Amino acid sequence: MIDLTLTEEQLALKELAREFAQKEIAPVATELDRLGKFPADLIKQAHALGLMNITLESEYGGGGLGWLESCIATEELAAGCAGVATACNANELALTPIHLAATPEQKQKFITPIARDGGLAAFCVTEPSAGSDVAAMRMRAVKSGAEYILTGVKHFITNGDVADQLTVFAMTDPEKKHRGMSLFVVPANAPGITRRHMGEKMGQRASDTAEIVFEEVHVPAANLLGGEGNGFRVAMETFDRTRVGIGAMGVGIARAALDASVKFAKERQQFGKPIGDFQAIQFMLADMSIQIETARLAVYHAAWQVDRALPYAYASAIAKAYGSDVAMHVTTDAVQIHGGYGYYAEYKVEKYMRDAKLLQIYEGTNQVQRLVIARALLKD
Ligand SMILES: Cc1cc2nc3c(=O)[nH]c(=O)nc-3n(C[C@H](O)[C@H](O)[C@H](O)COP(=O)(O)OP(=O)(O)OC[C@H]3O[C@@H](n4cnc5c(N)ncnc54)[C@H](O)[C@@H]3O)c2cc1C
Repeated sequence: MIDLTLTEEQLALKELAREFAQKEIAPVATELDRLGKFPADLIKQAHALGLMNITLESEYGGGGLGWLESCIATEELAAGCAGVATACNANELALTPIHLAATPEQKQKFITPIARDGGLAAFCVTEPSAGSDVAAMRMRAVKSGAEYILTGVKHFITNGDVADQLTVFAMTDPEKKHRGMSLFVVPANAPGITRRHMGEKMGQRASDTAEIVFEEVHVPAANLLGGEGNGFRVAMETFDRTRVGIGAMGVGIARAALDASVKFAKERQQFGKPIGDFQAIQFMLADMSIQIETARLAVYHAAWQVDRALPYAYASAIAKAYGSDVAMHVTTDAVQIHGGYGYYAEYKVEKYMRDAKLLQIYEGTNQVQRLVIARALLKD
C-alpha cells in the first residue's frame, strides 16, 4: 500500500522551514543576489533551527532524520533563495562521505564540530581538468611516514572560501585510475592551502564558490577515511544520496516561480481583462503545476528509496535530472508570463531562472544523470 501523507513531524519541519524561508530568506534574496553576498547570519539561523545536517546521525550533532525530511526542508529553503539553500546543503554534501566511510572515532572528530557546533564544510572533488570525468583528477596524496602530503587544485567548490573543514578526494595511486582515489578530511586552515573566490556567477550568487590550491599540505594518516582506494566509491555513493536534494531544490524554485506567475496573471490587465483569463496563460500555468507535482513525487520517491536502502541510484538520477529540468522549464515560462516585467529583477522570476540553471550542472550534469539512467536500463 502506498501512503503519501506526511507525518506530523514532517509537516512541522516543512512549516518551520517555510516560515524561516519566507520571513527571513525571501525578503533579502534579491539583495544577496545583487551583491553576491554569502549569507553567514542566515546560515547560523538555519543551523540553530535544525535545518542543516538533517541526515547526519544525531549522536554526532546531526538531525538524525532521513533524506525525505532533508528534501522537505530543502524545497522550502530553495523557494526562499536557492543560493542560500545550496550554502546550507553543501554541509550535507561534505559530511555524507564521512558518514559513509569513517570510523566512529573519526565521525566524532570530523562530523561533530561541524554538525553540532555550526561549522561549515566543503566537498572537494572537481578540478580544472576533471569535471564529469571525476577519475581524471590529478590531485596527489603521497604517503610520508604517518602523514599524507596533498598537492593539487580543486575548483568550483561550494562554501570553499568560508568552510572550516574540507572533504578532499585525491589520488594515492594514479596508475589504478578510479580505484586509486582516496578520501581525506583536511582542516581548511592547514598550511599550504590558499583559497580564491571564483568570481561572478550567473545565479545562486549568495552561495560561495571557490578555487582551493593545495601546495604540499601535510595531513595526518588518521584523516584518511575508509582506507586507500576507497574514494571513488564513496564519492559516487554520496552523489546517489545528495542528488535527490537537487531535485527538491528544483521543486522549490519552480514553486516560487509558479506562485509569482499566478499572482501576476491575476493582476496584469491586457485587452481589458487579467491575462489569467487567456487560455494561453492558463495552459502555461497548468503545465507548470503538472511538472512541479510530478517532480515532487519523483523526489519523494527517490528519497524514500534512499531512506530504506532500496536500490536508489536510478531513482535519484531521475529525481535530479527531472527536478532540475522542471525548474528550468517552469522558471522560463514564468519569465514569459511576466512579459517585459519578467526581465527585470524587481519581479524575481529572472533570478529563479538564473538560479535554476545551476541545478542542471552541479552534482553531475543532467547528461551524466541520463548516462546513469540509460546504463541501468541497458544492464543485462
Ligand atoms: C556553482 C558551482 C558549484 C559547484 N559546487 C561543487 C562542489 O561543492 N564540489 C565539487 O566537487 N564540485 C562542484 N561543482 C562542480 C560541478 O559538479 C561540475 O561543474 C560538474 O560536474 C560538471 O563538470 P565541468 O564543469 O567540468 O563540465 P564538463 O565535465 O567539462 O562538461 C561539459 C559538458 O560536456 C558534457 N559531458 C561531459 N561528459 C559527458 C559524457 N560522458 N556524455 C555526455 N555529455 C558529457 C556535460 O554534460 C556538459 O554539458 C560546482 C560547480 C558549479 C558551477
